[in-house]
Amino acid sequence: MSTKTCFYCDKNEVLDSLMIHIGELSHSNLYLNLNQSHLGRVIVASKIHIKEIFELSKSERDGFMGDVALTSEVLQAIFCPDKINYAIYGDIVNHFHMHIVPKYKDKKNWGSPYNDDFPIFLNNQENKILIDKIRKKLET
Ligand SMILES: [Zn+2]
Repeated sequence: MSTKTCFYCDKNEVLDSLMIHIGELSHSNLYLNLNQSHLGRVIVASKIHIKEIFELSKSERDGFMGDVALTSEVLQAIFCPDKINYAIYGDIVNHFHMHIVPKYKDKKNWGSPYNDDFPIFLNNQENKILIDKIRKKLET
C-alpha cells in the first residue's frame, strides 16, 4: 500500500475533477474521463490498490482484463471508433488503472499515441448522455 493518499481509493475531489463514476464492474470501477477529446474515453481502475499488474492474482488479472474487454466492446458498439487504444501508465497515480481511448480516422492523434493536448470538456448534460448510453449498454 502507498503511504500517499490515492484519489481512486479516497474518491475525493481530485477524482471528481478528472472523471465521473459510471459504474462498478466485477474487478474494477469504470469512469468517464472528463477530457473527451477522444469521444468515449474512459478509465478502468482496479478495485484494489495495487501498483503493478503482477500484484494481482491470476483470477483478479483475468477479471480485470474481462472488464477491459467488456468496456471496449461497449465503447465500440456505441461510438464506432476505428481503433481503441489501451494505456497503462501510473507513474504519478500508482493505483493500477487503464485508459481506454477510442480513436477515429482523420481525428485527433490518429496513427500516433493519444495525448492530453487540447482537451475537450463537455457540459454536464452531455456527460450524462454519454454515461447513460454506456450504463445502458453494459446492462445488455
Ligand atoms: Zn488507490
